[in-house]
Amino acid sequence: MDFDSHVSGTVLAAVALVNAVTPGLRGGRTAEAPGGADLVDAVTAAVQHATTQPVPPVPADDAERLAGWADRLRTVIEHVEGGRVDDACTHLNSVLADSHAMPALSHHDGEPWHLHFHRPDAAESDAWAASLATGLAVVLGNPTLDRLGVCRAEACDRVYVDVSRNGTRRFCSTACQNRVKAAAYRRRRTAS
Ligand SMILES: [Zn+2]
Repeated sequence: MDFDSHVSGTVLAAVALVNAVTPGLRGGRTAEAPGGADLVDAVTAAVQHATTQPVPPVPADDAERLAGWADRLRTVIEHVEGGRVDDACTHLNSVLADSHAMPALSHHDGEPWHLHFHRPDAAESDAWAASLATGLAVVLGNPTLDRLGVCRAEACDRVYVDVSRNGTRRFCSTACQNRVKAAAYRRRRTAS
């Protein structure tokens, strides 16, 4: 896919954040919402996808707030998966508004000027939420919309963004894809 590389990074970060911190099912097992130091690690690792600069550990209270934003981003992707584009876009608009998303050019740490999606003075959790929501907004506002989805494998609700050329991805991971293939193979053997 040919997104702006920063946009691609923020979308990957949004997907990683949703998958790391929202409870549900992962590859046939229960996915618990992490807490405490695990939550800080999970959030920090997720947002690292958005930047080539090393991200210092996200403060614990910001990590808690980002977990709340992640629930709302999951809802957006679930609406896309369900074909409810109006609901997805309306819901994402409310995340953009509530996180005070705002384009602003910035040049810090010796980097060339580049576009941030949050106010320079935003709290860290709001800044990340605004960035990740804006990345998703670029995807939702384009024919790339159907590149977002929820894993189709049984007992899995992790989300994905399909950045492949042909855009045929339906699973969160190769593990889930292989699980589904193996189950289909077993069904064929039983049927014959
Ligand atoms: Zn899966």
